[in-house]
Amino acid sequence: MPLLTRMLTAPLSIDVRRGAVAALGELLADRRIATEGRVAIAVGPGQGEKIAEHARESLAACEVFQVEGGTVDAAVALGSRLRAGSYEAVVGIGGGRTIDATKYAATLSGIPMVSVATNLSHDGICSPVASLTHEKGKGSFGVVMPLAMVVDLDYVHAAPPRLVRAGIGDVVSNFSAVEDWLLAAEHCGEKVDRMALTVARTAAEALLHQPGTIDSDRFLTVLAEGLVLSGLAMSFAGDSRPASGGDHEILHAIDQLYPNTANHGELAGIGAAFCFHLRATRLGDGAERLAEIVACLDRHGLPKLPEDVGLTVEEFTTAVRYAPRTRPGRYTILEHLDLDEAATRKAVEEYVQAHGG
Ligand SMILES: [Zn+2]
Repeated sequence: MPLLTRMLTAPLSIDVRRGAVAALGELLADRRIATEGRVAIAVGPGQGEKIAEHARESLAACEVFQVEGGTVDAAVALGSRLRAGSYEAVVGIGGGRTIDATKYAATLSGIPMVSVATNLSHDGICSPVASLTHEKGKGSFGVVMPLAMVVDLDYVHAAPPRLVRAGIGDVVSNFSAVEDWLLAAEHCGEKVDRMALTVARTAAEALLHQPGTIDSDRFLTVLAEGLVLSGLAMSFAGDSRPASGGDHEILHAIDQLYPNTANHGELAGIGAAFCFHLRATRLGDGAERLAEIVACLDRHGLPKLPEDVGLTVEEFTTAVRYAPRTRPGRYTILEHLDLDEAATRKAVEEYVQAHGG
């Protein structure tokens, strides 16, 4: 009989609500992730202690580890400590950096990982990719997908608003990523996984049309679920294609050339808007989507122009030119147009003029 379906890797459970951290013990036991209570908890520097204390209420026997930032070194150190103890699972609680380091450590030590997000800055909270810094900058590493995914809205409400709204930029950038994927299919014969594409785009579509702000639980739920769906789309596709196109090439270029300019989701949003500007003005396609994305960034107070993140037109031009080098082999609108220095600067100037003020 022909194989008419396929198996997809997805977390055992996805839990987005208030009070989720307090119910961790229940989740781990119910899902049989940790039946003997031998659980390691990894927390980041900031809110770490408070969260660990909160988690202890439902996980009496757990052991808490501090993760010092999102570096490969910190992740490897955590990995060896996890290997040394005989834990059933590790729970990474915190923002993107802590979760990424914990995902990598869990993969190294061969134990399942539960992701508990306390802010919504990017789609790494539930993806098979960890973004970590090392001596030479930042790298993306393939890791095992979290076994369960928890977003505690109480913590998200208490997180710095900038870190929460950044995730909007990351989800919305899916629009640009999937258009790039279709472009690569048309011009290079790249195979498109329509299931992964549908999941990534639907997540962005839901968020784009969701009224309200990050102050509302309803909006935060759509945002959190959008980030989770983006992570799942990457898992289905087997790489980051459905959620990372020219938009992310630009963000990686800015990260490499001008470190600490802004966070991942903020730059993804600008990258997506700029890529749609290129699409609308150079391919005559996507003007409506461009307007929607720009309106969405505006509505949520996200940066939109180079100057909003402290970059000059010249610097942004340099980053756009450098962008294709950050992801060799990925065909996007940037590789497709292959604009030279002067044409890139002109496009950036037009973009600033069209959307500034
Ligand atoms: Zn991203």
